[in-house]
Amino acid sequence: MTSPAWLESWSADDGAARVRTLFAEAFGADGDPDGVWSAPGRVNLIGEHTDYNAGLALPTALPHRTYVALRSRGDDVVRLVSAQAPGKVWETRLADVAPGVTTSWGAYVAGVAWALREAGHEVAGFDAVVDSCVPFGAGLSSSAALECAVAVALDAVHGLGLAADDAGRAALSAACVRAENEIAGAPTGGMDQAASLRCTAGHALLLDCRPGLSALESAHAVPFELAGAGLTLLVVDTRAEHALVDGQYAQRRASCERAAALLGVPSLREIDPEGLDEMLARLQDADDAVVLQRRVRHVVTEIARTEEFATLVRDGRVDEVGPLMNASHASLRDDYEVSCRELDLVVGSALDAGALGARMTGGGFGGSAIALVRADDVDAVVAAVDEAFATAGLTAPGFLLAPPSDPAR
Ligand code: ADP
Ligand code: MG
Repeated sequence: MTSPAWLESWSADDGAARVRTLFAEAFGADGDPDGVWSAPGRVNLIGEHTDYNAGLALPTALPHRTYVALRSRGDDVVRLVSAQAPGKVWETRLADVAPGVTTSWGAYVAGVAWALREAGHEVAGFDAVVDSCVPFGAGLSSSAALECAVAVALDAVHGLGLAADDAGRAALSAACVRAENEIAGAPTGGMDQAASLRCTAGHALLLDCRPGLSALESAHAVPFELAGAGLTLLVVDTRAEHALVDGQYAQRRASCERAAALLGVPSLREIDPEGLDEMLARLQDADDAVVLQRRVRHVVTEIARTEEFATLVRDGRVDEVGPLMNASHASLRDDYEVSCRELDLVVGSALDAGALGARMTGGGFGGSAIALVRADDVDAVVAAVDEAFATAGLTAPGFLLAPPSDPAR
């Protein structure tokens, strides 16, 4: 058997050196970059498919980051190069960036400049290069890492001062969400960008996605120190296909919105878990009652689990969160129907090998799963998951360690 594939994070120096070299090759003829910025991918501990239901989520920042070297230009032109899309310079004019117009990965970058302009900030064109150790399309939010790295870069070169405090970071996050929703055309809910900009090392971020909250009200840092408790958060990239832009995510969102409308509530967040059965009964005459009832049950119970998880962690009882993770996975698999064979296999094999809890994370249909594992058991759990994939004839998964890390900077 081959040895498990570890997806290592880069040191800050290594990441910066990579983009400086790439910048010199691509745009060096016109001088050096103004600087280097980076932003992390994220992993969500619990609270899945809740962000667009005005619910709670609990992400942490990964040590895996996307690095950007950027130089502001006097004009309106944007030129981009990515190590992950080699051989081509992607070019546009900022004036040409608009919803429905810009395709390809450049939309995530140019979209941030567009959204900052829409928010009233003066942003000029720029030359930028990108390199990243955040796995792509793995449910670990390489898209938000890219947007947020660009956001802090533009914040710095234009002296906007938003990255200096949490309220400003919430504003940058909102711009990144608009870039992803309106320019890249991916209807994501806002957790990813908030996590990348607002999580801090050693903490998870309890994110309250109700509209209209102040920055202070919308996110609370929760100490999440695993090493002291002898625990490790293991992330497994199943390497199964998943595409957030595809119809499944939009369908789930639409079902939630329809259920809320039928129930006469502004969002599913408003449903009290105590009154859940009564609410589900009220959906029984809808065309697709069974589906709507499942979706609502997932969202309402998942928000409650997220609250419980955060409470346990705050009380120093992190070793007791495993059953909540398992229940979250079952709910996503059976009620929300966004899991898949590979994700179920990670969860099952990790638990069999002694993980305290495990669940899929991110949008689903592939992507990644997480397992909370005693530090001493990590090798055994990794070997068990790797072997389960080999036995099932699946592509070998990738493994990441995920100590809660630094935000975009
Ligand atoms: P996830 O965010 O879970 O990794 P998404 O489908 O939301 O998956 O985002 C992945 C997309 O983001 C890629 O297909 C690409 O368009 C863009 N992207 C992310 N990082 C980079 C990068 N370093 N270079 C170029 N494009 C990137
Ligand atoms: Mg994404």
